[in-house]
Amino acid sequence: MSFESLGLSADILKALNKKGYSKPSPIQAQAIPAILKGRDVMAAAQTGTGKTAGFTLPILDILAKGKQPSTKQARTLIITPTRELAAQILESVETYGKFLNLSSTVVFGGVKINPQIKRLQKGVDILVATPGRLLDLHHQGEVRFDELEVLVLDEADRMLDMGFIHDIRKILSYLPSQRQNLLFSATFSNEIRKLAKTMVNDPVEISVTPRNTTADTVKQWIVPVDKKRKADLLAALTHKHDWEQVLVFSRTKHGADRLVKQLDKKQITAVAIHGNKSQNARTRALASFKKNGVRVLVATDIAARGLDINQLPQVVNFDLPNVPEDYVHRIGRTGRAGKAGQAISLVSADEIKQLRDIERLIGKVLERRLEDDFEPDHDVPASNLNLDVKKSSRSKTTSFKKKSSGNRKPTSKTNFRNRNKNKNKKPNKSVNRPNKKK
Ligand code: AMP
Repeated sequence: MSFESLGLSADILKALNKKGYSKPSPIQAQAIPAILKGRDVMAAAQTGTGKTAGFTLPILDILAKGKQPSTKQARTLIITPTRELAAQILESVETYGKFLNLSSTVVFGGVKINPQIKRLQKGVDILVATPGRLLDLHHQGEVRFDELEVLVLDEADRMLDMGFIHDIRKILSYLPSQRQNLLFSATFSNEIRKLAKTMVNDPVEISVTPRNTTADTVKQWIVPVDKKRKADLLAALTHKHDWEQVLVFSRTKHGADRLVKQLDKKQITAVAIHGNKSQNARTRALASFKKNGVRVLVATDIAARGLDINQLPQVVNFDLPNVPEDYVHRIGRTGRAGKAGQAISLVSADEIKQLRDIERLIGKVLERRLEDDFEPDHDVPASNLNLDVKKSSRSKTTSFKKKSSGNRKPTSKTNFRNRNKNKNKKPNKSVNRPNKKK
């Protein structure tokens, strides 16, 4: 299948050609024709499947055929949970819409509101926004939705996890009832389905990514090591493999800052990106990392959500996440769009519970590789994965990146705010409950 056969206009095909995309990913092949027909869409797709182009391309096509927005009006609203993701979606919109005469902008919190108000003044064809700032702007009368044609809710499950449900409902109540709705979510829990009911109308349902699987293109293993030696090991691995661009995950903001200092002492340039940093600092850190200005970007889970750094070859888990689903998200930063990648986890003996949870979730025992000079004094206990537990829920794969099948695990219902509050505590079993049948 080719992009030409999907019915996209010549100007969009030109931009895709320039970007070097030769054929649509599965989500694009299914979503683009449905959206071009004006249908509502509900798609289960994770980052890495090409979902952004899946909704952006047909929206650009539709908007190019309509009329320009009036003062302060937005014709398309793309709502997304994080600032970084919002900025990246705008980048995609600008790339794919390069040869079209459409306006687009992004609004999110943590930066001055006045420049955003100014950019909205003339009206905008595509507005990408995080929920809080969008509501502020609407309440101040700086953005209006009377001419809204398309609404996209991206990463809907994340938005609910992050406690945005009330904001979303409020935003929905301000929109005209005649509109096209596109809902993208990695998972479809009961909550998402409940929200969808109030939002979409006779939707085309698309599913390309089974939950909690890891890409075949990502080689992943763990290195058992004593906790106090992790920073030294990371520095040694960076030197040994000559890593020029490595994304390192830290469970805590404090841990991320400390690690940057430790790496610095070993002449390895590093920056941290987390919630305590100002938006400008985060944007600068990401830009510097993308341009190979620093070798290591240390990120917390929330800050890293939605990061799309092209062809990122190397991810390191400095520590394992308490929420096992975050492991899947973390290593999804590498091996993107079919490219090869490596994800290495530095695991100390006290992380055995997190390791076992992750292995149960992804349905495989992670290979262990000892590093010379870093063999631990405290052994990481053996894994005890019981793969028979939930064999029935293995699901077939139809994703852009080839995915392996995996086992499902009870969904974590942890609220974003609670999770942050409890991040130094042991994971609480009571927050997990089995997936209900849909
Ligand atoms: P997304 O899932 O939207 O975050 O996209 C993941 C990555 O795939 C991004 O780096 C895109 O630039 C890339 N991508 C999207 N569509 C295609 C395509 N049809 N061919 C090759 N790469 C693509």
